[in-house]
Amino acid sequence: MIMSSTEFFRNLPPKECAKCGDTIEEMADCYSHECDDCEGEIH
Ligand SMILES: [Zn+2]
Repeated sequence: MIMSSTEFFRNLPPKECAKCGDTIEEMADCYSHECDDCEGEIH
């Protein structure tokens, strides 16, 4: 079955923070596995 990239990304589950489990808003230039809050604690 051939899927367009748009279709593929639409079927992905929402990204969740690896630390607190919150849903992460997709950001084109950021592929972090943690939400802003948890990221802020690290840096
Ligand atoms: Zn988090």
